[in-house]
Amino acid sequence: MKSCCDEHHLLPIEDALAQMKTRVSSVTHIERIGLTQALDRVLAHDLIAQFNVPAQANSAMDGYAIHLDDTHALPKSLRLIGSALAGHPFDSEVVPGTCIRIMTGAPIPAGANCVVMQENVDVINAGDRQFIKLNQHPRPLENIRQRGEDIAEGDVVIAKGKRLNPLDIGLIASLGMAEVDVFRRLRIAVLSTGDELIPPGEALPSGSIYDSNRYSIIALLQRLHVEVIDVGLIPDQPDTLRNAFIDAAEQADAVISTGGVSVGDADYVKDVLGELGQINFWKVAIKPGKPFAFGQLGQSYFFGLPGNPVSAMVTLHQLALPILRHMAGEYIPPSITFTVKAESAIKKRIGRTEYQRGRLTNSEGNLYVNTTGAQGSGVMTSFSDANCYIVLECEQGSVDAHDLVNILPFDRFIQ
Ligand code: AMP
Ligand code: MG
Repeated sequence: MKSCCDEHHLLPIEDALAQMKTRVSSVTHIERIGLTQALDRVLAHDLIAQFNVPAQANSAMDGYAIHLDDTHALPKSLRLIGSALAGHPFDSEVVPGTCIRIMTGAPIPAGANCVVMQENVDVINAGDRQFIKLNQHPRPLENIRQRGEDIAEGDVVIAKGKRLNPLDIGLIASLGMAEVDVFRRLRIAVLSTGDELIPPGEALPSGSIYDSNRYSIIALLQRLHVEVIDVGLIPDQPDTLRNAFIDAAEQADAVISTGGVSVGDADYVKDVLGELGQINFWKVAIKPGKPFAFGQLGQSYFFGLPGNPVSAMVTLHQLALPILRHMAGEYIPPSITFTVKAESAIKKRIGRTEYQRGRLTNSEGNLYVNTTGAQGSGVMTSFSDANCYIVLECEQGSVDAHDLVNILPFDRFIQ
């Protein structure tokens, strides 16, 4: 079946992503690092539990460990014969008719098969002896965390390719590992092109604008935990661009440029890329961000983003980022979209998938979304005010107020 994208010779986003993914290779070099350095690094092997967690059955409550016999008969009173604390086990046996005081986390002693909460007993002092009286009928195994209940020896605890978050780091520590094997970080070179661009911090001559894309791109890459090589600002001159590309490609796994990628008179990126390496230039069926170049420069991969600031960030986030994550060895969990009501009407032309910037709001339990005002590809405030994309499919037309639309919440790379 012919899709609406074919009519306009635009490449569907999924096809662009699939083509790039088959072309790139992922890093293979592995390094062993300390756990305190492991946040946001990509795990290089399946992490296998070498023992059970918990290693021993232990108490989930402060109370009394007792031996509940088969008949579950409730003895009148149980003699207190000792105590167990976390780190201080009771070394003897709890036989029928006896009990020990036990604290949360303490190992369950031999003979005990139930922990009774302290709130459910009365303590009776009889000379130098103490007894407890149960107020309720306990159940076998009550309040006991079983050995291996959390993790069984041999389990894959974290799969290869996971980008490690704080919870993963704690899990690895709980398995006794002080170091972890991760893939080496990607090296990514970033450059802006355009004669009109001035670095922030300098005076702005008339007709110029500040180079903002290089900063937003580098900031997003910092979230990806890569090594960034800032190549700087390159004028619209083929020779300078050529030298900058060669230099960047020699140092980096990927080169990201912004600007000069459409078909204007000063747009040299794709010509120079075609001359130096392999090029796939696409008009991708995405709005904002139609012109996008992908290719190879020696051993390095190249992503040519458009110059308009919103387009640059949408194409970086939706087209380049998934490929960079794949190159980093990362397994990418499917993104979660959901459907909510649009509060007001949204204009949309058939032919491209639109990533409008939206604000998702919860009003008394009802979710709804609104666009964040003017959606022009140069209007960065529409992006920074947003917390989600409103994804309007290629074939879809305008949306009426109260129609359902698909929402893609911002992930941690841009939020
Ligand atoms: P281009 O893709 O080079 O035709 O640029 C499209 C628009 O984006 C023009 O208005 C440029 O001035 C602007 N632009 C290009 N590069 C940048 C940048 N690095 N930062 C901010 N705006 C830019
Ligand atoms: Mg330009």
